[in-house]
Amino acid sequence: MTATADVRAELEQRLADLTARAGRIEAEIAAPMDADSEEQATEAADDTALAGEDALVLKEIAAVRAAIGRIDAGHYGQCLSCGADIAPARLAALPEATMCMDCAT
Ligand SMILES: [Zn+2]
Repeated sequence: MTATADVRAELEQRLADLTARAGRIEAEIAAPMDADSEEQATEAADDTALAGEDALVLKEIAAVRAAIGRIDAGHYGQCLSCGADIAPARLAALPEATMCMDCAT
């Protein structure tokens, strides 16, 4: 098994976790509101927070999917901006990184 295959397996696992999390968040948002109007205000505030969390999770899902796509296309670990190899330490910390440290900062 190559290192890239390991990374891919890790990303697949993360994608599954994230997808499950998004599903739970969306189910909670879709849950019917309480009849009590005071409860409704609390739930509306919760839903707003949940929607924000959902958006973050969806963004991460897209980033992880894109990273898997780059692995499959054979150019994983290359900076999308300058084409240089992204430092292994950076990829270890952020497997879905699309840019090298120089371009990202
Ligand atoms: Zn770069």
